[in-house]
Amino acid sequence: MKFYSLNRNADQVGFREATINGLAPDKSLYFPASIPAFSAQLINEIHSLPNEEIAFEAIRPYAGGDIPSAVLKKIVTETINFSIPLVKLSDRIHSLELFHGPTLAFKDVGARFMSRCLGYFAEQTDKKVTVLVATSGDTGGAVADGFYDVEGVQVVILYPSGKVSMVQEKQLTTLGKNIHALEIKGNFDDCQRIVKDIFNNPELKQDLFLTSANSINVARWLPQQFYYLFAWKQWASPIKPVISVPSGNFGNLCAAILAHASGMPVDHFIAACNSNDTIPRYLQSGEYRPSKTVATLSNAMDVSDPSNFVRIEEIYQQDTTSLKKILSAISVTEEETSNAILNALDLYGYQMDPHGAVAYYALENYLHQHGDKAGYFVETAHPVKFHDSVERITGKSIELPPAVAAQVIKEKNALLMDAEADLIIDFLRSL
Ligand SMILES: *Cc1c(COP(=O)(O)O)cnc(C)c1O
Repeated sequence: MKFYSLNRNADQVGFREATINGLAPDKSLYFPASIPAFSAQLINEIHSLPNEEIAFEAIRPYAGGDIPSAVLKKIVTETINFSIPLVKLSDRIHSLELFHGPTLAFKDVGARFMSRCLGYFAEQTDKKVTVLVATSGDTGGAVADGFYDVEGVQVVILYPSGKVSMVQEKQLTTLGKNIHALEIKGNFDDCQRIVKDIFNNPELKQDLFLTSANSINVARWLPQQFYYLFAWKQWASPIKPVISVPSGNFGNLCAAILAHASGMPVDHFIAACNSNDTIPRYLQSGEYRPSKTVATLSNAMDVSDPSNFVRIEEIYQQDTTSLKKILSAISVTEEETSNAILNALDLYGYQMDPHGAVAYYALENYLHQHGDKAGYFVETAHPVKFHDSVERITGKSIELPPAVAAQVIKEKNALLMDAEADLIIDFLRSL
């Protein structure tokens, strides 16, 4: 598959280069030159297919040109080696749980897939590959875990000192081996500025064979389609599902819509946003006006200018009328989010995290207006990842899963550093 830049001001590249570049040289996002169609067998006989085969068939058109089948099969198998269950809450509402991976949030699948692709590309070169990433929380953990012990790849993670949760910090700093955590004396913006400065230096980028594990990377975006195919495999109702996705940077939703464009049956999509409501306002008014980002309970979705939305528009070739037939967007308030957490606990004995709660609220709301439909919402994180706010709302404590309990007692190992690009560059050269 070739990928073009959405600004159309850069050369088309294959999957390998798109993965290594992250962003196209014209600073825009890569998009596949054509959208493949899933085979009739994949859609109609999905119930009888193993997950590994479903995932392999879905990703092969994109990555198969640059990664041999046997290698790609192994990568896919390692990517999805945990369960992704569709849990029934009622006849009309299911929860697609994406938090059973190693870091308890949905970014595991993208990070695991990308890390193994880069590991393969690193084998093909004699240079060492270095992944440089700034994190405000979840991304860093998923990237650290995904790349842990991947041969030929060094990972350097910058995180703001004192500004990530205890569980998140342990996920970044206790692995060791090829994972290096730099605790920066500054905030997330400082970390991100340093990473941007370094990437804006083409010589350095080449010299150190640097790449970013940002969520816009095609190797993180495309494998997210797997979730929706696995949900379709488990969907037992004769009517097509309404799918509600808690959305921040819109990568996850964009992957779901891409799977639909390739033939996966869907009744309707809901983009469930928190108070950062740029897209709900845009679909209402036709005007794209990002406002200032506000902090919410569902903080992984505190994004006011979502990078991946342009990809959704590209799938529909900028035809907003057809897009609006398949996609609704709604902004859910903080109070509605808290009430949704309480409501699901009360009605179904089901404990949700604030991100899942936003999507649950949006789905309930939609089904209320469409009495003949049924669907699922996406639960993107284990409630324990946001235990402070969830415990405050419900008054009930949440137990740490055994794997996390074992990680939080491990010793933190990070280098404390001033927020200066030169110091980080020295560190990169020393690897
Ligand atoms: C990243 C994240 C989201 C938002 O996903 P996007 O692909 O950025 O829309 C939602 N929930 C959780 C828990 C996340 O970590």
